[in-house]
Amino acid sequence: MAKCSTCSTLVNKNNPGLQCSKCKKWIHGKCASLSAEQLNVLFLTKSVEWQCKTCVGKTKPTRLSCILPDNEEEETYEAEETGTDRDTKMMLQEIKNEVQTTIRRELKREIQTVIREELQRSLQFFSDKIDDYEKTQKETTEKNCFNGQTTA
Ligand SMILES: [Zn+2]
Ligand SMILES: [Zn+2]
Repeated sequence: MAKCSTCSTLVNKNNPGLQCSKCKKWIHGKCASLSAEQLNVLFLTKSVEWQCKTCVGKTKPTRLSCILPDNEEEETYEAEETGTDRDTKMMLQEIKNEVQTTIRRELKREIQTVIREELQRSLQFFSDKIDDYEKTQKETTEKNCFNGQTTA
């Protein structure tokens, strides 16, 4: 005969109880704080495995809803970390861009100065050349005109 693990008296029809599906210990319905109705449901529903308080405390919850809140917290933490990481990267990128822009602007100004100076020198050179050319051209034209006039 089965004995109640809580009160150590017999479990029978007069004092009904049930067996823990884990430790196989018997317990009275009233000792397990189960109402007659709850006990009846457990008797009738074979698929429901009842566990005593000790075993329930040892067993980790297997329901997904019991694990989810932890996962969500971890995800939020990771997202925050990624967000900080992204901000740092963006800030570094901004600094990089700023430096590049400054360098480019300074370089451009320097290049422009060099170009301007070089251009002015070149222009002066070409200006002199043009003067020479025009002079030569004028002389040639005059000569041609003279030649043309004589030929025609
Ligand atoms: Zn009992
Ligand atoms: Zn048990």
